[in-house]
This record gives sequence, structure tokens and C-alpha cells, in this order.
Amino acid sequence: MSDSTQRVAIVTGASRGIGRAIALRLADPNRANRHVVLASRTEGPLNDLKTQIEAAGGKASVLAVDVADPKALQAAVDSVADKLGRLDILVNNAGITKDGLALRMSDEDWDVVLDTNLKSAFVATRAAARHMMRGKFGRIVNIASTSGVVGNAGQANYAAAKAGMIGLSKTIAKELGGKGITCNAIAPGFITTDMTHNLPQQVKDDLQKFIAVRRLGTPEDIAAAVEYVTSDDAGFLSGQCIVVDGGMTMA
Ligand code: NDP
Repeated sequence: MSDSTQRVAIVTGASRGIGRAIALRLADPNRANRHVVLASRTEGPLNDLKTQIEAAGGKASVLAVDVADPKALQAAVDSVADKLGRLDILVNNAGITKDGLALRMSDEDWDVVLDTNLKSAFVATRAAARHMMRGKFGRIVNIASTSGVVGNAGQANYAAAKAGMIGLSKTIAKELGGKGITCNAIAPGFITTDMTHNLPQQVKDDLQKFIAVRRLGTPEDIAAAVEYVTSDDAGFLSGQCIVVDGGMTMA
């Protein structure tokens, strides 16, 4: 693809973990070959990732934004379409946890998780979809969680946000499917990243007994699924919640 026809993808939460792996995969010139816009709050790791992508022959830009700030997020998404002339793919991946039992959970811990994980996905989708409609093509992926599918004690805020992302995905799929835009959720199981590395080793070992493939997931496991769901070939895949958890939860 020439520069003007290269698809542009925004990946939020690209500074580390799953988002970083998604960005590397989508930018790989031997794979999806997208121009990937790397978004998170901290610029340093994004600049390092941009350098790494460019060294491998890919294209990337850095977008420092707090996704929990709706005005800033809306402006950031618009600025990508303005600067790069198009916007084709949005991966709403940025997320946080503030775990605690529901009866002891503060309003603040509820609000910050809902704003960062769920409202941000809505705001970014609303902004991005307007640009995607112009190109009659769009791929929106919301990184949810198995917590949002089956619930998880200690994560009322997080599970509610992730379940909300799944409902959001199905609704956007219905509203925008006729415009060439698909929207799906991917629900990772237990993935080894900063988010999960504080869990005691014993808990991690015990968890593996409940995972059919007998290992924890890697960020690359999720990136591989995102690559397909955002591909041009995936135009008939919409409104789904794809669980990528090594067979930990099965419907
Ligand atoms: P990490 O904690 O490793 O990374 C989180 C990313 O989100 C960072 O890049 C962080 O960047 C960014 N982020 C957090 N808050 C904001 C904000 N307000 N504005 C912009 N960026 C923000 O998490 P993971 O990679 O593990 O998780 C990625 C996604 O996958 C999350 O949505 C998570 O809920 C989901 N997930 C993870 C699972 C796991 O087992 N790890 C399982 C299921 C789902 P920075 O701090 O630089 O802003």
C-alpha cells in the first residue's frame, strides 16, 4: 500500500502490555502494515516504541492523551484524522483496575474505572466513527475481559466496565454495520502483563489448572486475534465477543 492508502489505526494503552503487542503486530510491515498511532498518558515509552516500529520498516505516531478526559480524547482522535487524512481502525485497549469487594468499594474507585475503561471506549468510538464513515470502512475493537463475561469477585467496577464494553460493541455493530464499520469485543483471560504481575506465584500456578491449554496468556496471543478482527478480510465478523483465554471459560 502506498502512504496515502495505508490504513491508519489508533491503539490506546500502547505504552506497555497488551496494547504494545497489538501496536507492534499491526505496524509490522510484513503483516498488517498499518500506520499505528500509539496512545497513552506517558510519552517516553511511546517514543521508544515508535523508534522500534520505524527501525523495523513500519510507520507510527505518538499521541499523548488521558483517555479518561473525554474532551482531550475527542480532540486527540480528531487530530489523527486531520493529520493523517484518514482513520480506519480503533483499538480501545487502555484500562486500569481498582479492585476491592463491592461492599467496601468507594464511589471514586467505581468512577475512575468506569471512566477509564468504558466511557473512554464510547467517546473514542463516537469520534472515530465519524471519520470511518467518510472512508466507508472501519474496524473497532474493544478489549474487554473474561471478568465482564463471567464476573470476578473483587472486581465489581472492572467487570461492570468490561461487560459494558461488550454491550457497547454489539450496539455499535448494529448502528454502523451498514456503513462498512464492524465492532467487536475481545475478552482476554489471564495475560502476563504489569496488570497481573503482582499476583502471588501460587495463585498463578493454581490458575493454570483451570486453563485448558495449561499456560497463562501472552500479550501476543491477544495481538494475534486483534490483527484478524481488524483485517480487511474480517468484514463479516461483527457484534461478537471473542474470548481469548486458552479455554479457561467456555460457554
Ligand atoms: P497494563 O497495565 O500493562 O497497561 C495498561 C495500558 O493502559 C498502559 O499503556 C497505560 O498507559 C494505559 N492507560 C491506563 N490508563 C490510561 C489513561 N487514563 N489514559 C491513557 N492510557 C491509559 O495493562 P494490560 O496490558 O494488562 O491491559 C490492557 C487491556 O487489557 C486493559 O483494558 C485490561 O483491562 C485488559 N485485560 C487485561 C488482562 C490481563 O490479564 N492483563 C485480562 C483481560 C483484559 P499509561 O499508564 O502510560 O497511560
